[in-house]
Amino acid sequence: MRAYLDHNATSPLRPEAAAALHAALEQRLGNASSIHAEGRAGRRAVEEARGQVAALLAVPAGEITFTGSGTEAIATAILGVCARLPAEKRRIVVSAVEHSAVLAAARQAAASGIEVEEVAPDPNGRMAPSAMARRIGLDTGLVALQWANNETGVLQPVREVGQAAAASGAAYFVDAVQAAGKVALDARAAGAHLVALSAHKLGGPQGVGALYVREGLVLQPLIPGGGQEGRRRGGTEAVAAIAAFGAAAEAARSRIAAEAGRLMRLRARMETRLRALFPDLRIHGEGAPRLANTLNLGFPGVPGESLVIALDLAGFAVSTGSACASGAVLPSHVIRAMGGTEEEARSAVRISSGWSTTEEEVERFLDALPAVVARVRETQAAR
Ligand code: PLP
Repeated sequence: MRAYLDHNATSPLRPEAAAALHAALEQRLGNASSIHAEGRAGRRAVEEARGQVAALLAVPAGEITFTGSGTEAIATAILGVCARLPAEKRRIVVSAVEHSAVLAAARQAAASGIEVEEVAPDPNGRMAPSAMARRIGLDTGLVALQWANNETGVLQPVREVGQAAAASGAAYFVDAVQAAGKVALDARAAGAHLVALSAHKLGGPQGVGALYVREGLVLQPLIPGGGQEGRRRGGTEAVAAIAAFGAAAEAARSRIAAEAGRLMRLRARMETRLRALFPDLRIHGEGAPRLANTLNLGFPGVPGESLVIALDLAGFAVSTGSACASGAVLPSHVIRAMGGTEEEARSAVRISSGWSTTEEEVERFLDALPAVVARVRETQAAR
């Protein structure tokens, strides 16, 4: 029996989301822009989901735009703002531990003449608000900070950085893809103008995301088209996937406290046992507030990729951190930005639990790990 411990890459479809998806497909909902009964039923499903997704951020439903992924929501926000920055504000400030979707969009903006400044975190991977604030000035048009890091789970001081952005008149973008559904969020209290979400990180289907755009902010659409989604994102809405996103958002939000408490206890159990088993174990981000479900480990001398493969063969799905980097065998840019060495950045392994994780799976993982690590160490030594 396999144990799936890679919820930060994708969290399996929640039963509520699966039911909503099946129901939407069976009802043969029409194009949400059509005026006939089938189309109106499609529109109702999309609008119900919009309300459910908006509740994740405590914002009005009308400020949510559905997209095709978290990555698309991020690119829409960053490139959409950058395309309209006045000459005196063509500078953007981002944290160095952002997801590659944010860093790549910022680099694309740089290619069109925007100055991009990446700010390093402290050794725990947390951004010091003062370090961000020092770089934010009247020439800054956009500030980007994630709510929680996908590799370490470290929670960022979004509200404090939002205050610095507001003081300089910069737009403020927050990537909440990993935080949504895991901790309670309030986009307005954080001072965010733009927030990105992704369905599949909280138990919804893959291939659907959302962008919160605060009322009054005008963005250049990344995908122009037929005027869907308030002219912010062209393309026929993926009605069934959006309905399932809404159901997943509702299920995750209604259980945030209970799920976080349960996952925190499971992680504490893992940390205690792993510390006893491996005295040289590294826990990245240990000194910072973290998402309850995320544990980023480093076993000295054990390449993360080799350990992930060996664990996969033993029946456990974990990852080296950013799923987008896996396959390319890149050292983690997050661990590097935290001051980690190349070896540390290559040995990081992420265990991420979620709604489907059981105590029995965690125990099985802890029982199996010592032999798997020993095997990888032996193979390494024999090279
Ligand atoms: N932002 C963060 C923090 C993520 O973890 C991810 C996915 O790994 C994304 C953005 C991209 O989301 P999507 O997979 O929906 O494109």
